[in-house]
Amino acid sequence: MRQVDHKKQNKILWIIIAVILSVCIVTSAILFSIYYVDSSVKPQVNDNAKNVILLIGDGMGEEHIKAGELYEGALLAMQKFPVQGEVVTRSLTPPFTDSAAAATAMATGNKTYNSRISYKDGKNLTTIAEEAMAADKKVGIIATKSVTDATPAAFLAHAKKRDMSDEIAAQIVASDVDVLFGLNDDSMRALASSIATDTRDYCTSFEEIAASSSEKIFGLFDEAIPTLGANTLSYLTEKALSTLSADNDNGFFLMVEGSKIDSYSHDNDMEGMLRELRAFDDAVSTAKSWAAKNGDTAVIVVADHETGNLKIPDDATMEDLIDYEKSNNWFKSTMHTNSNVRYFIYNVGTEPVYGDVPTGTFDDDGNQIYESAITSYKEEQLKDFPDKIDNTDIYRLVKQLLF
Ligand SMILES: [Zn+2]
Repeated sequence: MRQVDHKKQNKILWIIIAVILSVCIVTSAILFSIYYVDSSVKPQVNDNAKNVILLIGDGMGEEHIKAGELYEGALLAMQKFPVQGEVVTRSLTPPFTDSAAAATAMATGNKTYNSRISYKDGKNLTTIAEEAMAADKKVGIIATKSVTDATPAAFLAHAKKRDMSDEIAAQIVASDVDVLFGLNDDSMRALASSIATDTRDYCTSFEEIAASSSEKIFGLFDEAIPTLGANTLSYLTEKALSTLSADNDNGFFLMVEGSKIDSYSHDNDMEGMLRELRAFDDAVSTAKSWAAKNGDTAVIVVADHETGNLKIPDDATMEDLIDYEKSNNWFKSTMHTNSNVRYFIYNVGTEPVYGDVPTGTFDDDGNQIYESAITSYKEEQLKDFPDKIDNTDIYRLVKQLLF
């Protein structure tokens, strides 16, 4: 009898072990799928651009861009870029990234935990802006919210927590950044007297910025940057480009953030989101025109993550979109999501070619109606660029282009 019991006990033990093993395997598989990032993607470009302009729409998912297209009734400037694809945005903190970890990925090529500012496991991570400055290239950073916020901070500073704005402000002021435009905050105001003005102009209005011909400018505003009129993100982008390119043979790196696409998406405010998105796309258009005219310049448009789980209904019309009581409900969340975002790249030599294509409809006289559309691309330099990349690949791409 005792022997039978022993066998039974063994059998139960084996079943328990089998169950534990299965649970472990399934759990590891789930964790692996959450954390796995395809780091085998190595964007290769043949070309060296002297200058790189990186425009980041904070919180700008694919559906945000679709909303902008629906509003305009036409493609946005970024959508006309010849090289396009998806970006994986995950950080080391599940389930979705914040702007700090995402900006760190793009600024340094390293995944980190949420809230870290170009910092991981007790170490500062060198940023592309720091590498550019060390190589005697010029650097500009523009944001439509405070310059100590996560995205601009991740290019110029290092901190264990994104809300350490005093530490971040001190590092920004001590940095050799050539152009810095964005909102002022208490941390920056406290250091106003220590901002070196022997070599740079410290401006607090659009008038002062317009009047400055300095090679280095800090432009810090106390009020929101307008989305319409003469004094917009697009204007600041143009001013930064003329400042950074003046007397400069070594090239520059300029980061431009449309910071408030995210804020209005958190609020599920379609009207505000569209205003910020369109102002951001105007800045994209300015950057692209500048690059087309000046050569040697690559323009990359990307987002750090999606905000608001926006879903535009398939049959949505412009009228539905501007009925904001209705369209505010197209946001299905007030948080970030881990949806992939879009990337758009323009470089001289990658110009799309427009032509007339038949629409399949006919006018009253029976003539085929044609519409203008992109018919082909000149993709000499970026034709093999992968459709899907990781956000850390943005750093590698900028570096390959810049150096
Ligand atoms: Zn956010």
